[in-house]
Amino acid sequence: MNEEPTPVIELRGASKTYPGPVHALRDIDLTVGAGELLAIVGPSGSGKSTMLNIIGTLDRPTSGTVRVAGHEVGTLTDAQLSALRAQHIGFVFQHFHLAPGRDAVDNVSDGLLYAGVPLKERRARARTALERVRLGHRLSHRPPELSGGERQRVAIARALVGEPDLLLADEPTGALDTASGAIVMELLYELNTAGTTICVITHDNEIADALPRRVRFRDGGVVSDSHAPAPPREFS
Ligand code: ADP
Repeated sequence: MNEEPTPVIELRGASKTYPGPVHALRDIDLTVGAGELLAIVGPSGSGKSTMLNIIGTLDRPTSGTVRVAGHEVGTLTDAQLSALRAQHIGFVFQHFHLAPGRDAVDNVSDGLLYAGVPLKERRARARTALERVRLGHRLSHRPPELSGGERQRVAIARALVGEPDLLLADEPTGALDTASGAIVMELLYELNTAGTTICVITHDNEIADALPRRVRFRDGGVVSDSHAPAPPREFS
């Protein structure tokens, strides 16, 4: 019998309600398979940050189920969620979140801090990850000595060094000029072609429209999904 591969992200009837009540997410069904490159796109207030927190296992839904790499988030303790994030999810943020006093290798090797990898191997893997994002010539530069685009590439290397199942990129070009933003998006494409599952969260339609799948949000709900997955195949 053929077994369907485990989705990287699986939300079923997921809702998030803040006191008020504010219905930040309403009854979301979303399945993302391994190897996809998609945008979660919508205007300010549509629920994107809430989705990022839920998919990134930084928050739990009020109701419904959320599975990331096959693990049901609602059943895990905070410590288990931290371990899930360390093993399965890489984060890229609009403002890079790099340590300004540490060089590129140290910033990237920090991405393996919670994976129990010895320092020497962490640094070796960091160098390889930096070469992957074409920063092999900037290994000992600190963030203030790098351009915005280079900083974001260091942040992408840090997110990837642990070989996560999912790369979550929150407005990854939002702080960059157009040319640097294009280089970062090309890099995300290239990493996806090499197998990384990538979810870009953005308010920018132009960025979303360049990606193979767009899931559009408005008022906490999905209003369209350019690539709703086919229903499960039946084998006779
Ligand atoms: P986006 O990232 O698309 O701008 P958000 O997910 O930040 O959207 O917000 C969705 C809705 O939830 C908005 O109406 C926002 O005001 C509300 N919201 C977000 N976080 C909180 C919170 N911690 N408490 C109450 N309301 C919140």
